[in-house]
Amino acid sequence: MAFMKYISTRGHADRKQFCEILLEGLAPDGGLYLPENYPQVSAAMLASWRGLSYADLAFEILSLYIDDIPATDLKAICRKTYTQEVFGSKEITPLKKLADASTEAAGTVMYLEALSNGPTLAFKDMAMQLLGNLFEYELARRGEELNIFGATSGDTGSAAEYAMRGKRGVRVFMTSPLGRMSPFQQAQMFSLQDENIHNIAVEGVFDDCQDMVKAVSNDLVFKRKYKIGTVNSINWARLMAQVVYYFAGYFQSTKSNTDKVSFTVPSGNFGNVCAGHVARMMGLPIEQLVVATNENDVLDEFFRTGVYRVRGSADTHETSSPSMDISKASNFERFVFDLLGRDAGKTKALFGEQLGKTGKFDLSADPVFSEAAQRYGFVSGKSTHADRLATIKDVYTRFGVMVDTHTADGVKVAREHIKPDVPMIVLETALPIKFAATIVEALGREPDRPAKFAGMEDLPKRVTSMPADVAAVKAYIAQICA
Ligand SMILES: *Cc1c(COP(=O)(O)O)cnc(C)c1O
Repeated sequence: MAFMKYISTRGHADRKQFCEILLEGLAPDGGLYLPENYPQVSAAMLASWRGLSYADLAFEILSLYIDDIPATDLKAICRKTYTQEVFGSKEITPLKKLADASTEAAGTVMYLEALSNGPTLAFKDMAMQLLGNLFEYELARRGEELNIFGATSGDTGSAAEYAMRGKRGVRVFMTSPLGRMSPFQQAQMFSLQDENIHNIAVEGVFDDCQDMVKAVSNDLVFKRKYKIGTVNSINWARLMAQVVYYFAGYFQSTKSNTDKVSFTVPSGNFGNVCAGHVARMMGLPIEQLVVATNENDVLDEFFRTGVYRVRGSADTHETSSPSMDISKASNFERFVFDLLGRDAGKTKALFGEQLGKTGKFDLSADPVFSEAAQRYGFVSGKSTHADRLATIKDVYTRFGVMVDTHTADGVKVAREHIKPDVPMIVLETALPIKFAATIVEALGREPDRPAKFAGMEDLPKRVTSMPADVAAVKAYIAQICA
């Protein structure tokens, strides 16, 4: 078998193996890693995968991208990760149909695919749980340790902590803006008592936290001495893990491997939907990939107009789907690289140069822009606070299903693109309990709370507060690692 190598979207000469990039963030030239080519799934492979358990499906897909972990070990890692015990059902990502007389009459079929029944009730668990097990495996193999240092506004930090808790060789230092996460999110993170998990509440906003992470990452001496790493959404292993549930959703919603489906994905950083793009490039019969944004519509603007324009912090809205509140889409470069026919020079000129100088680039006059829709299946739409409230209410009254604010953005935009005869799968990215205030606003009642989270807000909290000061956080890390 030929080795799978990974390359940078900006053309750096290195070609790396999976385990070399597993613990890395950006490529040395500031680009993102992608496989040198997308493995193609034949009709025979697709047929043999239908009916596999989620864990074994994950193993088959991951095997195409990882050739430096022995197959028996990789299979064990997949089976240890995707269990009914952790994800709450045998299917791991079960589908739920949203159907009534009016959808029957229209001949349309819409499903929700539940990606949010893992430990922190958001889709980030799907990849992060695997990452925790891959990190522990690879660090043990190398005899190394890693200190993950990150910033979170909620979902990423808690998913990382629940994935890394109790893992050998790994510590997590997670900054979050003091008092800004939802009470449920705070309780989820701060109630963890594991010795290797360190919560840092920063007197500031999310951008202050992110600036501290950047400052530490740029201090190469400190970074090396304390073995600092990250788990942000540009990590290739996270993206790869997400490819699996596109296949799982496809198999659950179709009978034959010639059927087509479409997916709608609530999007901010383009991580989740980029995995859909990879699945489609591998040959999964996906008709459309629908990108749903909130008021922070950087991506919707691009797919409508061909202009990619990053926002300043003053133009970044705080919304009721906060996990999509982004000023730029950090995974977008991967898709644009493919759109430009994998021209690394052009990708570098746009992302490495033009974006830094002018804050935007414009592909509207470039013939490749039309391929985003025609060849790659991308369309988009946008949803506002009023749309979220209306959609949450409509889905609840018509189908008896409560959706969270991010998933509501997905359902709203999915309805604008759904076609008869092509099932539309909306990815459910979080459970409503995480964003209770907006559910109360929409429905006049509290969301249901899974039993295992009863009374969580009353548990003892393990968190250290500090000013938004890089020297203070460095001293804290140094003291813990001493
Ligand atoms: C992170 C997140 C998103 C956005 O996903 P991206 O892959 O970053 O675009 C959407 N919904 C929820 C609940 C999230 O946590």
